[in-house]
Amino acid sequence: MQRENDRSEYDPRVRNGDPDGFEAFDEDRPIRLGVSSCLLGNEVRYDGGHKRDRFVIDQLGPLVEWVPVCPEMEVGMGTPRPKLHLVRAGEELRMREIESGHDHTRAMRRFASHRVRALRDLDLSGFVLKKNSPSCGVTRVKVQGDRRSPAQDNRGLFASHLMRTCPNLPVEDEGRLDDAKLRENFVERVFAHRRLRGLFGRRWAKSQLVAFHTAHKLQLMAHAREYCHELGHLVASIDRRPRAEICEAYQSGFMAALARPVFRGKIAKVLQHAAGHLKRRLESASRAELADLIRDYRVGNVPLGAPVTLLRDHARHLEVAYLNGQTFLDPHPKELLLRNQD
Ligand code: SF4
Repeated sequence: MQRENDRSEYDPRVRNGDPDGFEAFDEDRPIRLGVSSCLLGNEVRYDGGHKRDRFVIDQLGPLVEWVPVCPEMEVGMGTPRPKLHLVRAGEELRMREIESGHDHTRAMRRFASHRVRALRDLDLSGFVLKKNSPSCGVTRVKVQGDRRSPAQDNRGLFASHLMRTCPNLPVEDEGRLDDAKLRENFVERVFAHRRLRGLFGRRWAKSQLVAFHTAHKLQLMAHAREYCHELGHLVASIDRRPRAEICEAYQSGFMAALARPVFRGKIAKVLQHAAGHLKRRLESASRAELADLIRDYRVGNVPLGAPVTLLRDHARHLEVAYLNGQTFLDPHPKELLLRNQD
C-alpha cells in the first residue's frame, strides 16, 4: 500500500526541476496577504497621508501576516509627489503626472514585473488593494479623456500586472470590502486558497486530492454546482492525465467556482442537502426545527450563521463524518462574524 501511494505522489519541486530552490509550504505560518501600504496607515500617499482601513487592520489584521506594497514609493517617486492619473493611448492605458504629463508607464510596468515575481515566492493567499488608484485600483479606475463611465477592467498598472500574473489569487479593493457579501466572499476565497496551497504546495497524492474535493463539495455547490461536477470529473481522471495538468486545472476551476456569487436560494438548497444527511438520525422535532430555520434563512428572517450553527451542532453530536469534514460549515474563522451580517 505504501509503495502504491509513493508511486501516485506528485512533487511540485520535481515539476519545477529545482528541488532545492522550492520553498516548501509551511502549514504553521500565518496566512500572508499582500496589501496596499497606505491601507495599513503608512504615510505613503502622494500628499503624505494614508488611508488606514478599519476592516483591514482591526478585523483581518489579527489573523494574517501583511506584506505591504506601495508601488509608487517603491518605484522611487517619494512623498509628497505629483498626482498621477491614467490616460488612454490607443488600446493601452498610460500612467502620467496630471500637471506635467511626465510618463511613468514603463518604469511602473518594469517595477510591477519584478515585484510580482518576488511576491509569488511568498506564497500569498490574497491581496487587498486601494480603490481608484492609477497604480493599485482593481476595477473601474477613472481614465482621463474617457467619456463613458469607467469600465470594469480599468485597473491600476500594478493591480493589472498582479491579476494577470496570478489569476487564481483572491484580489479585492477596500471599497468593495465594505459590502458584506463581497467581504465574505473574499475572506472565504482567501482561506480556501490557503487550503489549496496546503495541498498542491508540496508533495501530494491522489487520495489527498480526493479528500480535498470531498471536503469542499458543499462549499462548491453553494457557489456553482456545475463547477463542482466538472472538478469531480477532473479528479476522477487523475490516472489518465498528467499530474501537472490536473494540478493547474483543479486550482483554476476551484478558485473560479468560489468567485461565483452566492444567493440565499442556492445556499438554502445546499443546507437542505446537508440536512438530508441527518434525516434518519434526528428526531422529528429536531428535523422540523432545522427545516424551519432553513426556511427562515431563505426568506431573509435569519442570517446564514443560524441554520449552519444548528447543522454543525447536530453533525458533531451525531458524529456524521461527511458533514463534519465539510468546509462549508466552517469556511473562515468565526471571530470575523461574517455569517451573522446578512
Ligand atoms: S494607493 Fe497604492 S500607490 Fe497609492 S499610496 Fe496607496 S499603496 Fe501607494
